[in-house]
Amino acid sequence: MLARPAWPRQCCYFPSPSRFTGKFFPLSAFPGFRVQKLLAIESSCDETSAAVVASDRSVLSNVVASQFELHEQFGGVVPEIASRAHVRRILPVIEQSLKEAGCALSDLSAIAVTSEPGLVGSLLVGMTAAKTLAMTLDIPLVTVNHIDAHIYACGMGQPQSIFPCVGFVVSGGHTNLYDCRSATDFTMIAGTTDDAAGEAFDKVARILNLTYPGGPSIAKAAESGDPAAYDLPRPMMRSDRPHFSFSGLKTAVLYAARGVPGPNQLSDTPADRVPNLAASFQQAVVDVLVFKARHALKKLGHKRLCVGGGVAANTVLRAHLADMCHRHGYQLHVAPPQLCTDNAAMAAIAWEYLEQGKTADLSADVLPGLVRPGQPRKKSPTGN
Ligand code: ADP
Ligand code: MG
Repeated sequence: MLARPAWPRQCCYFPSPSRFTGKFFPLSAFPGFRVQKLLAIESSCDETSAAVVASDRSVLSNVVASQFELHEQFGGVVPEIASRAHVRRILPVIEQSLKEAGCALSDLSAIAVTSEPGLVGSLLVGMTAAKTLAMTLDIPLVTVNHIDAHIYACGMGQPQSIFPCVGFVVSGGHTNLYDCRSATDFTMIAGTTDDAAGEAFDKVARILNLTYPGGPSIAKAAESGDPAAYDLPRPMMRSDRPHFSFSGLKTAVLYAARGVPGPNQLSDTPADRVPNLAASFQQAVVDVLVFKARHALKKLGHKRLCVGGGVAANTVLRAHLADMCHRHGYQLHVAPPQLCTDNAAMAAIAWEYLEQGKTADLSADVLPGLVRPGQPRKKSPTGN
């Protein structure tokens, strides 16, 4: 095992004062305090991203190179294509991120990288770049769980901590609810038994002949549709189990669009059905997500709901969540739209690990798989 990179001599690390006082003070209020910078790298799926984030959590740059044009023709992410694109893009993206932040490599105090979950080939590209930088600059390496980072994004730019809260990640690969006791103490309480919500948006978009990624194109088509036009199922709404399932809803859309399997089933969806189907599907997903979020709030007794992930960019979902929270007295924090889909800035959660001395060594590995509800959470080699 290679040695852990030591703290750089030129910059000693100061924990955030708010951790000790429970109150917010600007770090600049402390004489001698020097705001430090870390470079964060994200490559878990189909976005290559690098960000420079300061220890006061301000985002100095956040460069995202999306690959959607490479995967569009397949209607979903092709892992082999994604890994190769990350290899081509990672260095230009890092360079651009440093340039936009006005930051040299020598100004960095740490390197953060997404190590889990995601596509193994994609994660390895970011991890290799991060280890190389940490080793050559002789600064700490911090590994970040991408799902935790999606929740952390909800608090970025907020003056006060968002924890404790119910954390809700609604993305292309995940529909997960968490009991978040602090920024570094998350327990998963619900997940999807089949398709994630974003995955269902992407698959239904294919049925409706809409473009990839499906979320934004369904949202657009739904604007001129009637959400009550089709009576679609709300999967697991009446179940006592906290989990999600969207595969049956997707099949229900297929049958509503083209008819049930048999000689009379259409080979394509008639264009005039698309707006109403898009609106009805979107409403069914939103109803389930809002219902389950409220269920989790009641069960866990938290007063705050924090929602991140690509589907959290959906304006109808945001409006219904806001309405539910307003009616029942909960605080709602939804990640800003630019931090909903994959980005490296949300790896700012790495500062929380650094404050607890949780750094990785150069044997750190990627963990592509998801932890399922009820399973103990696998510890990454850093213990993060
Ligand atoms: P992952 O990390 O799992 O790759 P992201 O957090 O990047 O996922 O989110 C991508 C997903 O978000 C895609 O499935 C996309 O369809 C969905 N999405 C993006 N914008 C919207 C929107 N406005 N409404 C619904 N879904 C959306
Ligand atoms: Mg994501």
